Formats: sequence, C-alpha cells, structure tokens
Amino acid sequence: MTKPIRTAASPPSTESARGSVRIDGVSCGFDATTVLRGLDLTIDPGEFLTLLGPSGSGKTTLLRVIAGLIEPRAGRVVIDGADVTKLPPQKRDLGFVFQNYALFPHLTVRQNIEYPLKVRKIPTARRQELIAEMLDIVGLTGMDKRYPSQLSGGQQQRVALARSLVHRPKVLLLDEPLGALDRRLRQELGRELRRIQRETGTTAIYVTHDQEEAFVLSDRIGIMRDGLLTQLGAPIELYQRPSDLFVAGFLGDVN
Ligand code: ADP
Repeated sequence: MTKPIRTAASPPSTESARGSVRIDGVSCGFDATTVLRGLDLTIDPGEFLTLLGPSGSGKTTLLRVIAGLIEPRAGRVVIDGADVTKLPPQKRDLGFVFQNYALFPHLTVRQNIEYPLKVRKIPTARRQELIAEMLDIVGLTGMDKRYPSQLSGGQQQRVALARSLVHRPKVLLLDEPLGALDRRLRQELGRELRRIQRETGTTAIYVTHDQEEAFVLSDRIGIMRDGLLTQLGAPIELYQRPSDLFVAGFLGDVN
C-alpha cells in the first residue's frame, strides 16, 4: 500500500488519519428482498466519497448500514480498524444529515446544535466552545437564538450540518442533504460543505442523484447497481473510462 502524501498545506486535523471505513461483504435486505449483495468498499480517512446510481440501487440502504440503523445479514462495517457492525448508531462516532432528518422545530439554532453534545454528556463550558466554533464554521454566528422556522432552507441545512459535526465525528454520512434546495443554492452549499469537510478532516460519504455535484465535489465516486458497486474511481477516471455500458449509459443519461 502506498503511503498518503502529506504536504505543508494539509490541514493538521487529517494528520491523525482518523475516519477510515471498510465495508466487508455486506449483504442486507427487507423480508424476501435482497438489497445489498456482498458489497465491499474501503474509504480513506478524510476522503469525500460519493455514491451515485439509479433509484433503488441501494445507496441509502448502504448509508443506513454504516450508520447502524439497519443490521446487515452478513458482512462487517469497520471504522478505524474496529468492527462496529453490532454497535448502535450513537456508539459509532458518526454524524449524519439525511434529507428527512429535520431540525427540532421547538428548539433554537443553538439548542439544535447543542443536542448531540448533551446526549454525549459533554460539560457545559466545553459545549459552548464547540457550538461557537461550529456556528463560525457554518457562518451562522449571531443567528443562534432563532428557531428553524425563522431561517431559509439553506440556513436550516447549515444548522443540520453544524449539528452533525459539532461532536467532531470521524465520519459524516450525507443522504441528499441539498436535495430540497434550488440549483444555485445547492452549488453554493455544496462548495461550503466540501470546505467544512476538509477543514474538519472528516471522512464524508455522500449520496446524491446530481452527477454534476458528484463530479465537482468528490475525491472518488462509486456507481451502484442492484446492490453492488459496479465502478469506483476518481471522477475523471469514470468519465474517461467507464467500466461498462451501464456506467457509460448512466453517466450519459443526465449530462
Ligand atoms: P437508493 O437510495 O439507491 O434509491 P434504497 O437503498 O433507498 O435505494 O433502496 C433499495 C431498495 O430497498 C429499494 O428497492 C427499496 O424499495 C428497498 N427498501 C428500502 N428501504 C426499505 C424498507 N424499509 N422496507 C422495505 N424495502 C425497502
């Protein structure tokens, strides 16, 4: 295995190289249906990996298996060398932003962001530090007393992102987090998301149906088909050398 190249420009937080994820032969399904069919995937610390593929190919299911919301029938999920397959979500050191994982409407921005810290019993003083830092990173300083209904869609997603990262998880799982926003805002927030992910050195696994977004944001893209990865590579590789007609056709569909 080649050693990762570290340059002076690398953010210090990636030096500790936390947040590797290994999916080993994961199969799962619902009742009689099989959704994931012995899927293997390794994600490097600090990497931004996007899953693309037709609707129903298993992208969300894979994220949910990594999150611990679905238990696989076979296979393992390994984070930084530790087998977490049997651990509940809150013990996995993950953050997630799902399209339908809404903010708590009766809590302020600050209280929403504070929630994961309270769950983890972080002392008050440290909580305030972490929240201030996160508000700054997502550009919402001064808006902490507002309620979600007093924010735009884009601001709400920034809060959701802040809430998912405030406890400094190793891995961030994102399922169509920008899906409900208009194109311009998607692009803007996509770039911001990438900046924040780099700054915090968090490994990100991103599900989207927006190919352009995937090509702009990702270190690597995995194309899913029928519960398996049919190709995995850097955006340029997929674009120039699709592994088969399915990938070529799928990528050709929308561009
Ligand atoms: P994708 O994210 O690629 O669109 P999903 O992972 O959401 O695909 O779904 C993969 C397959 O699993 C689909 O056929 C879907 O209908 C099925 N599925 C997903 N969740 C459930 C569930 N809770 N119960 C039954 N079937 C499900």
